[in-house]
Amino acid sequence: MIGVSLKKKKEMSMQCFESYLQPEDVYLPITREDKILVKTGDLVKEGDILGRSMKYDLPIRSSISGRVQISSDASYIHIQNNGEEITYTKKKEKKNYTKEEILSLLKEAGICGMGGAGFPTYIKYSTKEKINTLIVNAVACEPYITSDYVCILKHTNMILDTISILMQTFAIKECVIAIKAKSPLLKEALLTRASAYKKIKVSEVPNLYPMGWERALVRYLKHTDYKNLPIEKGIVVNNVSTIYAIAEAIFYQKPLLDRIVTFSGENMKKPCNVKVKIGTKISTILEKIGVCSKSTLILGGPMMGRELDLEQDVILPSTTSVLALPSKEIEESPCIRCGKCTENCPSKISPILIRENKENEEVLKHLNPEACIACGICSYICPAKILVKEAVQEAKDRMRGRKK
Ligand code: SF4
Ligand code: SF4
Repeated sequence: MIGVSLKKKKEMSMQCFESYLQPEDVYLPITREDKILVKTGDLVKEGDILGRSMKYDLPIRSSISGRVQISSDASYIHIQNNGEEITYTKKKEKKNYTKEEILSLLKEAGICGMGGAGFPTYIKYSTKEKINTLIVNAVACEPYITSDYVCILKHTNMILDTISILMQTFAIKECVIAIKAKSPLLKEALLTRASAYKKIKVSEVPNLYPMGWERALVRYLKHTDYKNLPIEKGIVVNNVSTIYAIAEAIFYQKPLLDRIVTFSGENMKKPCNVKVKIGTKISTILEKIGVCSKSTLILGGPMMGRELDLEQDVILPSTTSVLALPSKEIEESPCIRCGKCTENCPSKISPILIRENKENEEVLKHLNPEACIACGICSYICPAKILVKEAVQEAKDRMRGRKK
């Protein structure tokens, strides 16, 4: 099994939970292709539809109430908060749902993958294929990130009930909730309650990175592989925070307006998980938590994340974490041809060969940089401290651009 063992560093953020649900402003990214239904000066309420993303036909909803301003370059909708909060109360539970009802609910609530991919959930379930297995991904295999763990611990019953509704509606035969081995808190919370649900199993997966990668999970849990999507093998994979967003849509008719995000790292003054509105500027949350000087700020995990843009970056449904790590000078040395990057690449490509040929499209055609999942193992494992992942990403972008 390909994978590396990383220090978990999870305990740092598990002790503290905060909510920051009334930001002064939110900034909701839009594109020129989106259909915008509001104009500057309009007053909107929390949850109102501001437009539709044309790429996936998903609603763009306001995460707070307030006054609209559309940016001059039409790249975001700014809402200035007027403090009018909406309270979502639990609705009377239905016994049965039709597939069409759940699909419409997933779509209109704007549910998308919250593990990092951001793919619309209604599309995963709008399949003509038979779904035999639902894998709920609660692995969070990158160090520091605990937002999924906190979500499970806080909402175990709602998560299990929602899985049960999805299984019943789509006639799914089995569900496997995947957690990392040696997560006693999660194991206890889930096992105690999942025993009441006959077709839901909790499985521990090895403590290796990138075990939370969809393909690795399917290989490990179902001993199979697929070409493009797990549904080819009758499998749907949902992140556990996505399941919780579905739960809120089903039980509270609440669209996806907020999420739990981990703020952690050795240079975060008060590491914690924060419930925060979509569209909140990350810099405003960092001001509250406090960051030590000489920090490198990362959006996402230490392996797959990228440098945070303090001016621009806002919380998105796919934002799992923000890290403040001590800044380090990294000095690259020449490649010693040890082959470790290739041996350990989960996508089975050759990062060093791609790096050496990153401008040669003819050679790149045979090296398949498009298969890179940006896991960062090649850079992490390289004894020469070469930023191999970054070079592979450049090659990937080059080949993708070529196909457009
Ligand atoms: S080439 Fe891509 S997939 Fe392979 S190890 Fe490097 S970052 Fe991961
Ligand atoms: S791991 Fe680093 S030193 Fe080893 S072959 Fe890859 S790039 Fe070269």
